[in-house]
Amino acid sequence: SQNHDRPERPAFVQGAKKLLIGGRWVDPAGGEQIAAINPATGQEMCRIARGDARDVDLAVAAARRAFEGDWSRWTPHQRRKLLLKVHDLVLDHFEELALIETLDMGAPLSRTRNLREWTSQVLQFYASQCDAGTVAAPRNSLPGHFLTLKQMMPVGVVGGIIPWNGPLIGLWWIFGPALATGCTAVLKPAEDASLSVLRVSELMLEAGVPEGVINVVTGYGHEAGQALAEHMGVDRLAFTGSVGTAQAITRASAGNLKRLQMELGGKSPDIVFADADLDKAVPGAAMGVFTNTGQVCVAGTRIFVQRRVHDEFVARLKEFTATIRVGDGCDPQTQVGPLVSQRQLERVQHYIGIGGGEAELVAGGRRPGGELAAGFYVEPTVFANVRNDMTIAREEIFGPVASVIPFDDMDEALRLANDTPYGLAGGVWTQNLGTAHKVAQGIRAGTVWVNCYGVLDPAIGFGGTKMSGYGWKGAREHVESFLYPKATYINLD
Ligand code: NAD
Repeated sequence: SQNHDRPERPAFVQGAKKLLIGGRWVDPAGGEQIAAINPATGQEMCRIARGDARDVDLAVAAARRAFEGDWSRWTPHQRRKLLLKVHDLVLDHFEELALIETLDMGAPLSRTRNLREWTSQVLQFYASQCDAGTVAAPRNSLPGHFLTLKQMMPVGVVGGIIPWNGPLIGLWWIFGPALATGCTAVLKPAEDASLSVLRVSELMLEAGVPEGVINVVTGYGHEAGQALAEHMGVDRLAFTGSVGTAQAITRASAGNLKRLQMELGGKSPDIVFADADLDKAVPGAAMGVFTNTGQVCVAGTRIFVQRRVHDEFVARLKEFTATIRVGDGCDPQTQVGPLVSQRQLERVQHYIGIGGGEAELVAGGRRPGGELAAGFYVEPTVFANVRNDMTIAREEIFGPVASVIPFDDMDEALRLANDTPYGLAGGVWTQNLGTAHKVAQGIRAGTVWVNCYGVLDPAIGFGGTKMSGYGWKGAREHVESFLYPKATYINLD
């Protein structure tokens, strides 16, 4: 057993957590809480506040006051220094944050600890963007004597609703650009994984983020989330999660025509050509699905394999899958942890059942027993001889389930790859440069990986097309989407 290597539970993970409103930690108006469950054991660890519309009202009012107060006079230079202080403090506490994330949503420490470097990059990136409001004035072409200024102004109070599959990543897509641009934010993390967001927020206050600039209301989607989507005081709302919720939020947000950003699911194709280096393609494609127990929006869940190497690929994928160490994320040896919740486990089991009826199960499919029986575990699962019109190839499972689909040539691969309502990501494995480029161009998706999977540079960013949503995260355009342009014409005569 690796028990002796397991770190102790951080002191933060206990008691009843509060809401962050206007720089203060407060109890929810309704006085109720939600259990925070460790998915590795099924046991309650502590409780989070069940915020509702009343708390959202207070948080939005606090964010509005902050937006209109001193914060609006902070210079880009001051905001950059603040972001860099947040950067330093968060990195200093990253071991604790990684552990909180692992305990709360199940991802292994081998993954959450690795987010430290990425977090550094993302915060450095947003720190570098604080001058985005400064725009050179275009030369005035009006007759007469005018001076024209064009500025980019912060949109105001931004709402964020994020899922449970990576709150330690998702929170920066809200707080990063908000701090860079001088907006203020109200964030609603997912009811299944809020703890890392709460701890990061404490650190941000400690780093000097002024009161009301960031606010966190934990709670259920149909309560706190819906209230945020409906709120007339929220100017922009970023959502990451499922398509159905995105549709509900789109309707709810119509009252004040909020600017929306949507990052939804996917059924991303990962295309393996016969000339690929299978030593790399097999583990690469496998972990493109199984990473984070398959709870990744860009997961390459449809693995298309050229028929000539199909049988060999499936045999090697089966072999590789058997070597994956499934277990409690707190064990440093673990590669794949539990699913986030009982509900998600049932959902994945439901799809594995459907897959067993329509395709050939070649690996996994069961729940591990023994000491893992109490957690929300399911074995990494591979289905072969899948057709692209089967349910398991069409619907997002959000679990460690790979579907292998044979194809004959590039045209067929691209036709099948694009035969999906989604357009978030895709991959191609080949040693032929022409094939790589043609497929990269041909996949209708926001990100394509060539001979790799899942790499993400915050300075480049990512986003979806089709029903995977719209609005780029990361890069300059993300920062600009927190701003609106303003022209000022000054008559000098
Ligand atoms: P979800 O869309 O229900 O939840 C995401 C967030 O939205 C949570 O914070 C939730 O509380 C909130 N929410 C739920 N209903 C809401 C409403 N009516 N108004 C406002 N906010 C609301 O997703 P889920 O239930 O966590 O997972 C279901 C599926 O969503 C997954 O199986 C997967 O297909 C997809 N998903 C995608 C991503 C992604 O990164 N793209 C992440 C998580 C889940």
